[in-house]
Amino acid sequence: MALDASQKIKRKFKNFVQLQEFTIDSEEGKKFKVSTSTNVFINGQLLPIQIWLDQSKFENHIEKLIGANNKIERDIVEHQGYDVVIVGGGPAGLSAGIYCARARLKTLLLEGGSLGGQVATTDKVENYPGFLEVSGSELIGTMEKQANRFNLEIKTFNKVHKLISDGLLKKVYAGDAAYSCKAIIIAGGQKRTGLNLPREDEFSGKGVSYCAVCDANFFKGKNVAVVGGGDTAIEDAVYLCKFASKVFVIHRRDELRATKILQEAAFCINKISFLWSHTIKELIGNSRLEGIIINDLKTGNNQTLGLGGLFVAVGSHPHTELLKDFVKMDEHGYVIVNDKMETTASGIFAAGDIRATPLRQIATAVGDGAIAAISAERYVTENFRIHPVKIFNESEKKIVCLEA
Ligand code: NAP
Repeated sequence: MALDASQKIKRKFKNFVQLQEFTIDSEEGKKFKVSTSTNVFINGQLLPIQIWLDQSKFENHIEKLIGANNKIERDIVEHQGYDVVIVGGGPAGLSAGIYCARARLKTLLLEGGSLGGQVATTDKVENYPGFLEVSGSELIGTMEKQANRFNLEIKTFNKVHKLISDGLLKKVYAGDAAYSCKAIIIAGGQKRTGLNLPREDEFSGKGVSYCAVCDANFFKGKNVAVVGGGDTAIEDAVYLCKFASKVFVIHRRDELRATKILQEAAFCINKISFLWSHTIKELIGNSRLEGIIINDLKTGNNQTLGLGGLFVAVGSHPHTELLKDFVKMDEHGYVIVNDKMETTASGIFAAGDIRATPLRQIATAVGDGAIAAISAERYVTENFRIHPVKIFNESEKKIVCLEA
């Protein structure tokens, strides 16, 4: 969330809401694997971080609190003259940023939350070449330092809400600003899918979580469950064992999709119990999640499971809402690009998890970012080349070059 937006809300709605921000100190932050984190209270109520991090959700939340007649108005400030604007600050966006800035392109990277995307909340990365083992937040921190060395301009908590592409002219809107540019690289990544169950939104942040690394600390000594059978679910289950007293993995089939090495690790941990061929029918609780009703797909029986927390890890979907009018996508909504990361729209490139690809890993995302940056550089050079005008200067008897 852009702090300037919160200041604006404070200014405009000071008679309606009381907004307080607290920064968790770095010691506390370490527990959450973040250097700092902001807690926001509105009228004394803690606002779930998912809402605070998403500017449009945050504004909707405020609008609900203060009534529909008090819409938040946007005064758009125009910023001109960028060569490239990168949307998304995960590994693909940061890699594209490093390559663009190093190629001396005037580049801006806009990120809706904090840098790193899904990777920043990954406990342990052990398959990124060059690093034996590294936490996601440490890896992203290093990429950020590298980007800073080349003076990449980065704006975090600036969620892009609109794109305009009119021939060569492009504009990217984030928060209350519009950035004109020559090329756009979309590296918006993907988002965890929900279960689509009644009361899921109500319990989100109140027992239902989509990020084990972010929230595990809140479930010390409790019984929790993870739903899903992929890499994320199994990694989450293993991670949660450090905090919870018992971890159930609820999977709709009797075989996991996760890679064998992760499966083997999970099968060795006594704290983890697998509920095979089960689905979740209902979330139960008063003000917080207190349990779930699960259905055994083989017997048809229902059973109530008392839980302190439920971690949803049933896959992801791409952040492509912005692009639907511009570029071609596959049947799952992932952006189709060619081997230069060019989308079907001239001057718009896509990189990382947002694109249709057989593999979504940090290693593939950074490769995509590098290719997208070099393609964007060529596009800018070819379409906006400055042609020197040669003039013969009589008095000095020499040719002088002027830029057209
Ligand atoms: P995923 O591989 O798509 O797995 C999603 C899991 O959720 C599957 O087991 C699926 O069941 C289940 N599922 C889907 N919809 C469901 C529903 N409505 N109700 C119940 N269960 C449902 O997603 P992911 O685990 O998030 O992984 C995404 C990608 O990231 C993968 O390519 C993965 O390899 C990669 N990843 C890599 C790492 C790593 O290398 N360290 C870590 C995390 C993720 P079915 O199996 O029956 O379809």
